[in-house]
Amino acid sequence: MLKFFKQIKKHNNYKHCKYINDSLIFDYKNNVKLCPYSTLGTITSNFNGIWFDIDKLKKVKAKSINFINSTDCPNICKLCEYFTENKHNENNKIKYLYLSNWKNCYLNCSYCDFPKEEDLIKASHYDVFQSIKQLIDSQFIDVNTTIIFDCGDATIHPEFDKLLYYFINYEMKKIIINTPAMRYCESISEAIAKNIAEVIIPLDSGCPYIFEKIKGSNKFDIVINNVKRYLSFEEPSQKRVILKYTILNGINDNQKEILDWFMFARDLGIKKLTIDIDKKWYNQIKDSIPLYLKELVIFIKTISNYNEIEIDFCDRTNFIYNTINKK
Ligand code: SF4
Ligand code: SF4
Repeated sequence: MLKFFKQIKKHNNYKHCKYINDSLIFDYKNNVKLCPYSTLGTITSNFNGIWFDIDKLKKVKAKSINFINSTDCPNICKLCEYFTENKHNENNKIKYLYLSNWKNCYLNCSYCDFPKEEDLIKASHYDVFQSIKQLIDSQFIDVNTTIIFDCGDATIHPEFDKLLYYFINYEMKKIIINTPAMRYCESISEAIAKNIAEVIIPLDSGCPYIFEKIKGSNKFDIVINNVKRYLSFEEPSQKRVILKYTILNGINDNQKEILDWFMFARDLGIKKLTIDIDKKWYNQIKDSIPLYLKELVIFIKTISNYNEIEIDFCDRTNFIYNTINKK
């Protein structure tokens, strides 16, 4: 491994990818891998959760770093937003651990990448608890690793509470939990109270009507009750409970809906929001972003500033915001 890094060091221009260099993903298709967008850096494609091959992880990681730094680097990387010129970490630490090994969800969002109803019935899943212990023992993971529970709804996974309490007791510093908040979890409240978890709840709407239109469920009130319970564990200075809004073509892509959502969040006492845009729609329009979308992004930024509520733009909305600012 050292020899490999010495070889890389001879080059002046290091190519870096946040995923290849710093991440590990357990996905819902039984893959354990480094890159979320390609097969590059696949460690195994039929993982059953029983025993994780640490040596293979080391080898695949070193090989993948070498590959993106070689003349064979594929176009998918060269064109990727995460392909940058940056220095490598000369250790094997995982900075971001993505737990997406679970795809079940109580909701059915129209923009969801995850399989729908009929697939959920036959949904397979696997446990990751043993693998995480192995990764900790091998010092790939430590308290500084950011743990990211991705969608589906990880809280449905039978191992969720066990894992989260393990991370809490291990004194992990940062845990990000994406959950639609259809199910309330004591473990999440404890992580919020200890100031180590951020809980991102995709509400996408400020009223039951739009909520149902997007999510195919009339359980708006259940979600709001759970949001309130999580908020009751948040200290006033914290920004741990975050409401998310994904802008969707022709459904909530207007000032009225976004304002309804914003006012609803403000009245709940939320102090941090995050905005995304439907990925598939964005890819169709990214070369010519409509003016009204740019105005929508400025609008939400302005009202957030005015109300002293933090707004976090995801990669795509950030790109829109930056293009406006450059003009
Ligand atoms: S640069 Fe993009 S496509 Fe290439 S490995 Fe990284 S995340 Fe994957
Ligand atoms: S909450 Fe997340 S996983 Fe569930 S349907 Fe919506 S986008 Fe998909």
